[in-house]
Amino acid sequence: MRILLHTCCGPCSIYPLEQLRQDYEISAFFFNPNIHPFLEFKRRQETLLAFCKSENIPVVDEGVYGLEEYLRKVTFNEDKRCQICYQWRMEETARRAAEDGFDGFSTTLLYSRYQDHEELKKCGFDLAEKYGITYVYQDLRVGWQYGIDKSREYGMYRQSYCGCIYSEQDRYDPAKRKPKSKKI
Ligand code: SF4
Repeated sequence: MRILLHTCCGPCSIYPLEQLRQDYEISAFFFNPNIHPFLEFKRRQETLLAFCKSENIPVVDEGVYGLEEYLRKVTFNEDKRCQICYQWRMEETARRAAEDGFDGFSTTLLYSRYQDHEELKKCGFDLAEKYGITYVYQDLRVGWQYGIDKSREYGMYRQSYCGCIYSEQDRYDPAKRKPKSKKI
């Protein structure tokens, strides 16, 4: 069974590829207009492409930088930005998989402990129905530490925030951090 795997970055692809390759023929799809700014996007893209090359995984699309389109989609809906972001990236994957004759699709986002796993699960099954294609769902979070250890061993670039400029501010701006509860 041939599946198109949406890949968000190199480190998050290690465990999903290792697992899914046992049962499926995988091609990678790098569609991440949510990664900003440009040099960060290039760094994650290059890391992923180098990893796929070393693993002999074909990449059907290397993606382009999508700041403007991303901002148009989430402006005035910032509180729902992750849902919009998942839906967009997964729908492109499902649509492309159906167009290119793959049997199914999946995403490395299912590996992350930081993403809304239930939302990703639901989104994938809804898209499977819409495009008449199989959603290969597995809870890949079980390999979280394994993927981290391997990415360090490989000397891979490891990003410190999710991707969008909002998540970068959440990560580094002290004003965005949740206040600690006061001691009574
Ligand atoms: S925080 Fe992450 S998942 Fe949410 S919108 Fe930003 S890049 Fe997308």
